[in-house]
Amino acid sequence: MLVFERGREGRGLSLIPACDVELVMPEKSDKRKRALHLPELSESELCRHYTDLAKECYGVNDGFYPLGSCTMKYNPKINEDMAALPEFTEIHPLQPEHTVQGCLEVMKTAEEYLCEITGMKRMTFQPAAGAHGEFTGLLLIKAYHDSRGDKKRTKIIIPDSAHGTNPASAVMAGYSVVSIPSGEDGCVDLEKLREAAGDDVAGLMLTNPNTVGLFDKNILEITKIIHECGGQCYYDGANLNAVMGMVRPGDMGFDVIHLNLHKTFSTPHGGGGPGSGPVGCKEHLAEFLPSILVERGEKLSFVKPRNSIGEIKSFYGNFLIVVRALTYLMTLGREGVPQVSGNAVLNANYMMHKLKDCYTIAYDGVCMHEFVMSLSDLKKKSGVSAMDIAKGLLDNGIHPPTMYFPLIVDEALMVEPTETESKETLDEVIAVFKKLYKTAERDAGELHAAPVHTPVTRLDEVGAARHPVLKYEFSK
Ligand SMILES: *Cc1c(COP(=O)(O)O)cnc(C)c1O
Repeated sequence: MLVFERGREGRGLSLIPACDVELVMPEKSDKRKRALHLPELSESELCRHYTDLAKECYGVNDGFYPLGSCTMKYNPKINEDMAALPEFTEIHPLQPEHTVQGCLEVMKTAEEYLCEITGMKRMTFQPAAGAHGEFTGLLLIKAYHDSRGDKKRTKIIIPDSAHGTNPASAVMAGYSVVSIPSGEDGCVDLEKLREAAGDDVAGLMLTNPNTVGLFDKNILEITKIIHECGGQCYYDGANLNAVMGMVRPGDMGFDVIHLNLHKTFSTPHGGGGPGSGPVGCKEHLAEFLPSILVERGEKLSFVKPRNSIGEIKSFYGNFLIVVRALTYLMTLGREGVPQVSGNAVLNANYMMHKLKDCYTIAYDGVCMHEFVMSLSDLKKKSGVSAMDIAKGLLDNGIHPPTMYFPLIVDEALMVEPTETESKETLDEVIAVFKKLYKTAERDAGELHAAPVHTPVTRLDEVGAARHPVLKYEFSK
């Protein structure tokens, strides 16, 4: 129900205090033609309205949220306390730098920590999301080749197990995409990679672990092949939750990386809220960054490097997300960072092994932070699809995994439990998955009809995407 539908005309709007200064009416031409349409309801009704809405939402604070490739982990509340400090929130982006030294120090320290974790030399916090970081990283690669007078490189190689944003970013940056198929084992096909590598290749973008949850075992060979043909290696580090503190993309031969602070480094996300996709690079690309923090005497200052690609976002980027990330890293400490990754990988493997006896695992073996199941066998035998199982999970109070992605797996469900779930929670969810499998075998109709216990039942998702109704029509 909308707030307008709850209100009753004549109840009044008591929240706005009476005007105690002389009223000056606007010119007729500036006046609105119709009265302003505002809902009239009491404070208690208003509170109930928003509480009701909140109850219809689902988030990490409500329960299990295994949305693969999204790292919906629990975000410690202390991060919010730090990001709410007035010293961080009540600054203005145009304030002179000597008055915001503390904020710059936050960025400098976060840069140092994240460079240490990734094996990179410098980092920019300007990009507002992962995909924005990819675009920025590709511009660095382009600027690098251009600066050497090497203009013949027009292609970016992207394995088909990459995140969907990778090819989109490459095209945005003006490149054409060469897609490399994965082998039987879910890793990059090295022969195909060698065939594609040449002097028209600007670089490679590798999502690692890839979207089937695997760490590419040939990673050193992959970066070697690309460097030998004169290309640069880009690491999509949005999934760093599986490897941080364990191995460093810089040591694997990558030249540039983006991270998703709003995944691995603990900022609530979903619903399109602000994100942060910092880009780190090796020394040879640093001169192209949008801006870098330098120490001048005792003071920190942003400078634009010599051959900068220019600003890609206003001011400092989404600064408060950097505050959350730094808080998170300082709380974890040197020992805690690899422990997070270890537990993320352990939880994913635990679930995968427990589910193996009924669900088909797309790529058997050890997974990283997530795994992919294929429900195509179940669909053939019972008519129950990945979508139906996802809807059945909703009825059990569980957020579904990512569905129908990656595209290279038929009837895919991509499960990422994250490290912040207990064994008890995992066991409960495993039991629900198994129960749904039995239901599918017994009574497919029950799952075709799901969900029945949610605020809205099965929606016309294609209709919602094709003909979205984004506007409310008042009845009068
Ligand atoms: C989430 C994700 C992205 C894109 O990040 P956004 O912040 O949504 O733009 C890119 N690559 C991978 C591997 C991801 O998981």
